[in-house]
Amino acid sequence: MKHQPPPPPLPLSQPPLMGGPVAGGVASAISSINGSNSVISNNNNSETVKCRPPIYPKPKTPSFDKDRDYIGFATLPEQVHRKSVKRGFEFTLMVVGESGLGKSTLINSLFLGDLYKNRQMPNVEERIEKTTKVEKKTMDIEERGVRLRLTVVDTPGFGDAINCEDSWRVCTQYIDEQFRQYFTDESGLNRRNIQDNRVHCCLYFVPPWGHSLRQMDLDLIRRLHRKVNIVLVIGKADCLNKQEVRKLKERILQDLEDNHIQLYQFPECDSDEDDDFKQQDRELKASIPFAVVGSNTILEVAGKKVRGRQYPWGVVNVEDPEHSDFIKLRTFLISTHMQDLKDTTQDVHYENFRAQCISQISQHALRERGKLKRDSISSTNGFDAAISETDRLLLQKDEEIRRMQDMLTQMQEKLKQTHLMEMKKNDSVIDV
Ligand code: GDP
Repeated sequence: MKHQPPPPPLPLSQPPLMGGPVAGGVASAISSINGSNSVISNNNNSETVKCRPPIYPKPKTPSFDKDRDYIGFATLPEQVHRKSVKRGFEFTLMVVGESGLGKSTLINSLFLGDLYKNRQMPNVEERIEKTTKVEKKTMDIEERGVRLRLTVVDTPGFGDAINCEDSWRVCTQYIDEQFRQYFTDESGLNRRNIQDNRVHCCLYFVPPWGHSLRQMDLDLIRRLHRKVNIVLVIGKADCLNKQEVRKLKERILQDLEDNHIQLYQFPECDSDEDDDFKQQDRELKASIPFAVVGSNTILEVAGKKVRGRQYPWGVVNVEDPEHSDFIKLRTFLISTHMQDLKDTTQDVHYENFRAQCISQISQHALRERGKLKRDSISSTNGFDAAISETDRLLLQKDEEIRRMQDMLTQMQEKLKQTHLMEMKKNDSVIDV
């Protein structure tokens, strides 16, 4: 039976293409859920950045007309859209790399804010002994009625000390901590208002000097790649000419392959996407790792205002794709793949963590059960009351273990399927 659907109230279109005025923007981050599109128009530098008031076309009120010849479920995307816009979005970005690589400048350029107003730079003596810290900054951004709570997790001191062997530990601990908190909240009573602080993406900054990844980069990436979506960024790329950028990118990709490291995998482009979108997707994939230049200065070049860096010999326009991959990174991170980064965090990285947790809990329960059994045997057999209490506890534990094992089997099955799908998609080697 084919029903005639009502006209869709919102246009279902793709995320904006790179390079134009629509390149970045939180409103488009939800396009993968509901298909809505957005235009960025955001020049405010305060922490809560507000853009124009919402100008979404008002959805048509569904009629009660009993003679209509459709059911009406074609409005489902619109219902999802309205619900998610009302709830707002959360995104957590971790930024890792040694100091001075342009991390804060890039974050400010990406989100048109000033997240590092009161920053204090450590002096040389402080840096010798410095340990890596975790600093969390949150910014509420609003664009065309879509609210995004952006959390940037910075790791000041990373790689600064003479002995930076343990720098990675702080990052892995932080990521695990957020997963643990989410797991606890999810198992609690009030599951409706869980705040999602899990890290959805880690921007790892590689210096432009040197010939490829250093041992310390490989150490960290190896420890993180199964916990978080890693996106590599070559900072201060204006230090390199075109050929050097190309060579450095090739060597980095080779190093990753040799070490069986898998960064965030871009999903395949749907076959029914239009040619422009497919081309954009190809360009994004071909640009990895993104070689970026950041700047918080607006310069005037040939009568046009551009975000750039003024040098004695000319201006580097950070938004010019000939000069840097900044626009590609912003398009990827905000406009086209933000939702996929969140989905991968939920479906792959968090599921891994959750499966490990449940397996640990069930092992613990098994040990407890063994202990109880041993205790009950060694205790004097004459005390009937004590035995019946022990039996009751044993039954309870048995039931608990059975439930956990069921959950574990289900999750392992799900994980196996996800991995199989991933492997089919990527056709690449995964170390265990
Ligand atoms: P962070 O310590 O990694 O956060 O680095 P900052 O963002 O504080 O930048 C350190 C210095 O590098 C500052 O003087 C910036 O102006 C400069 N800087 C930032 N981004 C770039 C870039 O893309 N190219 C160049 N050449 N310098 C940059």
